[in-house]
Amino acid sequence: MHPEPGRPMVNNIEQVLAASKKQLAGISESPLLDCQLMLGHILGKEREWFYIHGDEGLSEAHLLAFQKLLDRRTLGEPLAYLTGTRSFWNRDFQVTPATLIPRPDTELLIETILDQRDNAPCNVLDLGTGSGAIAITLAAERPDWRVTGVDFSAEALNTAITNGRDLSNIEWRQGNWCDGIASQSVDIIVSNPPYIAETDPHLLDLEFEPRTALAAGSDGMDCFRDIVPASYYCLVPGGLLILEHGYDQQEAVMALLSTSGYADIKALKDLTGNPRVVLATKPKAE
Ligand code: GLN
Repeated sequence: MHPEPGRPMVNNIEQVLAASKKQLAGISESPLLDCQLMLGHILGKEREWFYIHGDEGLSEAHLLAFQKLLDRRTLGEPLAYLTGTRSFWNRDFQVTPATLIPRPDTELLIETILDQRDNAPCNVLDLGTGSGAIAITLAAERPDWRVTGVDFSAEALNTAITNGRDLSNIEWRQGNWCDGIASQSVDIIVSNPPYIAETDPHLLDLEFEPRTALAAGSDGMDCFRDIVPASYYCLVPGGLLILEHGYDQQEAVMALLSTSGYADIKALKDLTGNPRVVLATKPKAE
């Protein structure tokens, strides 16, 4: 084939990867890995495959498909949207531009919840489930729990349904936070809601992800103001609320929990040392 001007003439896989990783330098923190994952996605191969097949040629169709993904990656599109998957905890999740891409930080939510309760049957709600990463991980780790994932986006829920189709202890609900959930019917409520302030320049770095899954009013607290009291209504006495929040919101979220009647409010830090999760209990009646 004739390369476009500026595109290096390449022959085998190793040369394609070497040329393309240069194109991603300065854009991705892991240019070679990204290229291997994109090409692996097109060829249906795992990353390890490349180490022994580097001298093989690529068909023109595969090369063209790869160049399309490479060009999108060069424009900043997240790798997870190009390959359609992201791993979280110990599973691969399908993601689409209608869902936030699961973050390693959010594994702290999972660890916190699993530390709190064993597999004794209980009802769990995941508010704003997106790809279903939190709800599905909990349902898989605790087979005797009954987990419900809620999202207002039908498109996101379709992705979650696909991701959780092998589990029988999970159900999905389209709606706004706790709307329609009965009073004192839930043992654990978890949420990683949108929490970025509308004016935060960080949103520009996240332009490919759904804004409705990220931004929450002028101080990023709008969703917490809805979720915290609504959860109090739905939780059984002694029930737990666990929230992920922005690095600078821990005090505000704790204050909101406290004024809403919660007790035993605990703060936790993520892998990078940022305040990231709070845990609170709805007190048992005196
Ligand atoms: N932690 C994400 C970020 O800052 C935001 C996730 C969210 O708003 N729930 O990239």
